[in-house]
Amino acid sequence: MNIEGHILTSLFVDIPNKLSGVKESIFSVMSSMAKAHDALNLSQGFPEFDPPKQLLEEVNWAMNNGYNQYAPMPGYIELREQIAQKELELHGHDVHSSDEITVTPGATVALFACIHAIVEPGDEVILLDPAYDSYQAAVEWAGGKCVRIPMNLKDLSFPTEQINDKLNPRTKLIIITTPHNPLGAVMTDEDWKALTQITEPIGTFILSDEVYEHMVFDQKKHKSVLQVEGLKERSMKVSSFGKTFHSTGWKMGYVIANNKITKSIRRLYQFVNFSTHSATQMGLTRFMSTNPNWERELSTFYEKKRNLFQESLVGSKWKIYPCSGSYFQILGFDAFSHEADDEFASTLTQQHGIASIPINVFNENASRTGLLRFCFAKSDETLIAAVNKLKQIPTL
Ligand code: PMP
Ligand code: GLN
Repeated sequence: MNIEGHILTSLFVDIPNKLSGVKESIFSVMSSMAKAHDALNLSQGFPEFDPPKQLLEEVNWAMNNGYNQYAPMPGYIELREQIAQKELELHGHDVHSSDEITVTPGATVALFACIHAIVEPGDEVILLDPAYDSYQAAVEWAGGKCVRIPMNLKDLSFPTEQINDKLNPRTKLIIITTPHNPLGAVMTDEDWKALTQITEPIGTFILSDEVYEHMVFDQKKHKSVLQVEGLKERSMKVSSFGKTFHSTGWKMGYVIANNKITKSIRRLYQFVNFSTHSATQMGLTRFMSTNPNWERELSTFYEKKRNLFQESLVGSKWKIYPCSGSYFQILGFDAFSHEADDEFASTLTQQHGIASIPINVFNENASRTGLLRFCFAKSDETLIAAVNKLKQIPTL
């Protein structure tokens, strides 16, 4: 008998399937499909360009100057001070670097830690569809139940009334994404006010995923949950250095919450990862302290790319949705296919050499939306090449 085979078989018998509804992430699926078919990859969201040269040098410097052992569990205080300084300068709110900020290996871990710090078995968590895929997995793993409410796909507006209808004493947490991935919508003052009012009686916690906070267009301004009176006390804000500094592969993020919530997050995080890559933290600290305006220039940089992509598509049969923030453009494909979004995304990748993200996979029951998401964090040449491919797709 093949001993290895026997050991493997017996090991698999009793593995519990804790996340039965969760499939392989669409980002892995589409990026590997793009690679296999040599397609232009506008699916998984990552920049086609490198981090700023000085940042690479600073991380290098840190590695060559002793920053190679464990950093303190919540992150270097110098980096947390830089983050606090940014929050004050850009959003006008005071946060304590010592006990309200925790640095994590990417926003994904921060989200996971927040959800597990707050959600107990039986709790309900409201997600707004299409919802970023890591939320559901983390909620279910914590024993919570996802209550999914669709964003209004006609005008990409925030569904206050529908949230109000679903609120009940078991509603522990609402997860907001602003700027929204994949829709590119941003929360307005009115949206935040309405959310504050309807959640006040229950005191629902808010987890605000703001990883695209520095990419907001058309003179709009990012409004963070931490700026909202009546909400900030029961909220967590998550952000990602990966988006801000073109360094998604470094997996560096952070979470800000009041002292009490932070304690709970850290109690959990210390046993998820304990601490985050030390040299990268120190490199970021040195870069941020000498480049105070980096974030301020990001919106203009990406707005030009959004404009190039949108304007080049004008006159085609693709339906161009508004994009107020993030580096994602939603396009409607009803003129080209009646297929479900994921099927059409596969067709485009395999037959037409361009990969995107289907929106239906972020919805409850994966119902067809007729929408695809394209990442425009790419060189102008790549964007033009993508548009040329999109313009050649035959209409129905
Ligand atoms: N939230 C949203 C909305 C995202 O788009 C992403 C992915 N880029 C993340 C969280 C995860 O960020 P990170 O790569 O820093 O874990
Ligand atoms: N956040 C990225 C996106 O939306 C992907 C992150 C991932 O691959 N997990 O495309």
